[in-house]
Amino acid sequence: MSIQSAIAELSLVLGDRLSSAKPDLELHGQSETHFTTMPPDAVAYPENTDEVSKIVRICAAQDCPVIGWGAGTSLEGHTSAVRGGVCVDFSRMNKVLVVNAEDMDVVVQPGITREDLNTDLRATGLFFPVDPGANASIGGMAATRASGTTAVRYGTMRDNVRALEVVLADGRIIRTGSRARKSSAGYDLTSLFVGSEGTLGLITELTLKLQGQPEAVASAICAFDAIEDAVNTVITTIQMGIPMARIEFVDSATATAFNIYAGANMPEVPHLLVEFHGSDTSASEDARRFGEIVDDMGGKGFEWSTKAEDRRALWAMRHNAYYACLALRRGATALVTDICVPISRLAEAVEETRADITNSSIPGPILGHVGDGNFHAILLVEPGNTKELEVAKDLSHRMAERALRLGGTITGEHGVGMGKLDYMQAEHGDGWAVMGDIKRSLDPKNIMNPGKVLKLN
Ligand SMILES: Cc1cc2nc3c(=O)[nH]c(=O)nc-3n(C[C@H](O)[C@H](O)[C@H](O)COP(=O)(O)OP(=O)(O)OC[C@H]3O[C@@H](n4cnc5c(N)ncnc54)[C@H](O)[C@@H]3O)c2cc1C
Repeated sequence: MSIQSAIAELSLVLGDRLSSAKPDLELHGQSETHFTTMPPDAVAYPENTDEVSKIVRICAAQDCPVIGWGAGTSLEGHTSAVRGGVCVDFSRMNKVLVVNAEDMDVVVQPGITREDLNTDLRATGLFFPVDPGANASIGGMAATRASGTTAVRYGTMRDNVRALEVVLADGRIIRTGSRARKSSAGYDLTSLFVGSEGTLGLITELTLKLQGQPEAVASAICAFDAIEDAVNTVITTIQMGIPMARIEFVDSATATAFNIYAGANMPEVPHLLVEFHGSDTSASEDARRFGEIVDDMGGKGFEWSTKAEDRRALWAMRHNAYYACLALRRGATALVTDICVPISRLAEAVEETRADITNSSIPGPILGHVGDGNFHAILLVEPGNTKELEVAKDLSHRMAERALRLGGTITGEHGVGMGKLDYMQAEHGDGWAVMGDIKRSLDPKNIMNPGKVLKLN
């Protein structure tokens, strides 16, 4: 039994859709991560579920690791081939299969990106709301239980996936869930696979919940002298039940990055970027009420607009925040980390983190989806500088400890991959051992994305 025997068999099934070309292997051994490249031994490009099943059966018989690949935008070393093996790249399984407009759902293959899906849906008046900023694949988003700027209104992938087709570690093809809006029929296997990071099976089809495109959208931006004022504005807005579609915090370092990278003209202080969805009247009314809270909290420069071009410019700037922050330090690479805390502890969590980074030897802008209590630090290090990488890891470590101390989680949306493995015991206690039991039962040979989520021998 060997990886090479699996590859020889797979090439008979896939022909030139199995690649061992060095650039392909290198590309699939990294993703947006600070971990060193760990390439697979081959990359498979299946075109349908039966092929995925054949790939997994062959790999299972040869004890060959199988790593799913969507768009490679994950941040915690999720796709690193720690034991080599075969990377299954879903880019050729990227179709919209059925749009059920009357039921507001859509069936898709996993390789479609969220931007392509929304382009396809445009004429239907519907859209898929989960938006991690990066143009990730829907399969990868389900596998990481992704969320992003709109989760405060529409929820995360957990809330927006109705059903799945999954290829298990022995090659069996199963279906979880249905197109019904709810069900009490047994264990919730859909939720088990959403967020399993490819460690329990490969997702080959997804049924997603859709939303109607809002009649009106208002977006706004405002500045604050202190982080605490910005965060308290968020908390009050939520407590008053003003329905926000997005509410994003950026700190003063990120505002500087926007000025340099995107030519913005922002005061270099903390800001909130917000969006409201509704009718013409309700979106304007929500923006007006939010403006009153901003005034009460001492916010400045509150401006709102219903113009599509203003909105596009605002969110393009936000979506490019990662690259803007990277550009703050020439040639830098980043350790990106996220935590999520109960909203009442958010100000504390952000301020402690800000102080910790300021007292360190490296820059690290902070930004996040604060409506959910979730924020990120983009810790900028010189490539190859191991001392700085250690500083970044220490900061990230203290963020994880802070999240747990404040009743939160070590990752709100990026996932565990390899980067957050060391905190799983602290967050879940015996629950982590139960995750290990589930994994052993579904994947006894530990071939599905080994080395992620769990530490198994
Ligand atoms: C600039 C930037 C901003 C980001 N912002 C956010 C954000 O706001 N919110 C957020 O949640 N994330 C964010 N991310 C992280 C990233 O976009 C998400 O983790 C995303 O869900 C990964 O999707 P992907 O298609 O790139 O998956 P990949 O990176 O290709 O894979 C991720 C994981 O899913 C597994 N996988 C992929 N496809 C399948 C499949 N079909 N079946 C089973 N397993 C599979 C892989 O094995 C791996 O474990 C950001 C990343 C970047 C670079």
